[in-house]
Amino acid sequence: MDFLSFNRIVIKVGSSLLSNKNGQINQPWLKSLADDVTELRKKGVEVIIVTSGGVALGRGYINRPTGELRLEEKQAAVACGQLELMQGYKNAFAPDNIAQILITIQDTERRRNYLNVRNALETLIKNHVIPIINENDVVATAELNYGDNDRLSARVAQMLDADLLVIFSDVDGLYTKNPMKHEDSEHVPEVHKISKAVENMAGKPTSNVGTGGMQTKIEAAKIATAAGCHCVITQGAGENPLHALYNGKLKYTKFISQTTPLTARKQWIVSGVKPMGEIIVDKGAAEALKNGSSLLPAGATAVSGKFERGDLVIIKSPEGEIARGLSSHSAENTKLILGKKSSETPAILGYSGRDELIHRDNMVITS
Ligand code: GLU
Repeated sequence: MDFLSFNRIVIKVGSSLLSNKNGQINQPWLKSLADDVTELRKKGVEVIIVTSGGVALGRGYINRPTGELRLEEKQAAVACGQLELMQGYKNAFAPDNIAQILITIQDTERRRNYLNVRNALETLIKNHVIPIINENDVVATAELNYGDNDRLSARVAQMLDADLLVIFSDVDGLYTKNPMKHEDSEHVPEVHKISKAVENMAGKPTSNVGTGGMQTKIEAAKIATAAGCHCVITQGAGENPLHALYNGKLKYTKFISQTTPLTARKQWIVSGVKPMGEIIVDKGAAEALKNGSSLLPAGATAVSGKFERGDLVIIKSPEGEIARGLSSHSAENTKLILGKKSSETPAILGYSGRDELIHRDNMVITS
């Protein structure tokens, strides 16, 4: 697999890889992963990590080394274990800078939170800090949480327009049947479409350390591939797992996306969502949009509707609809900066937000 053809990779690290039998962090393995990540980053690939292990590393603190934990026990364990985990990452990745991001399902599913998390992550990446993400299990409720980091990692990949998600787990990919039970099961190296038949291949969870089984990994692959991100599931227990993966030394299943992150976003813009307002632009701006420019405040003449930052709006020229896109500002703020130069907008809004009203990556020309 040519890793250098990817711009942005999300790596999901499972609990069973990070903790040893005694519930302590597997530091040599983590250091070997860090070395691999450093090597990739030097070649210009951006890396984001979604890590499990908080609960597993915290069990010792509450004297529950094994067995099912009640919600409050899990929360208490992870409150301790998350520190162990991050200390391990900090030591392994030094001198590179890392950051801890703990998110809940609300942060990926509510638009305002989503945009905030995304901006924070983008800012870290721009500053060469490696984001290390986990679910905020201390505050997540039993009814409303991811529970497994497989789907969380896929949502992160989607949020950040990553082009590859690597799930390091204790299984080396998908088998036609559960390989623990059926001798005649066969490894599946590539999946082009996640059909019912593929879903049926995933059995029940087998690992006793982490939370997700093959089912949640298939769910993750579905979310990622729909967003234009390929997904690889592989066994990461040996040292230098990334290095082994890109040198063809690991068996894996690759779920191939038929689209790109940009195309997926644009498809979503034209299909799924309901427009919340309209922005009217002058003839010059209409022409510029058709030639691939972003919509700047200077080219807009009127705005209607009630929308928030990130909502879908229709862009109209005096002749009618020309495009649809996700607004960088709320309707209220768009009204304030209509017709103004981008350099004037920070003084009007009281903060320096996005220069454009709608970025070209968030816009589709419809006529
Ligand atoms: N967030 C959990 C932890 O840090 C892991 C969930 C999972 O196993 O995927 O322990």
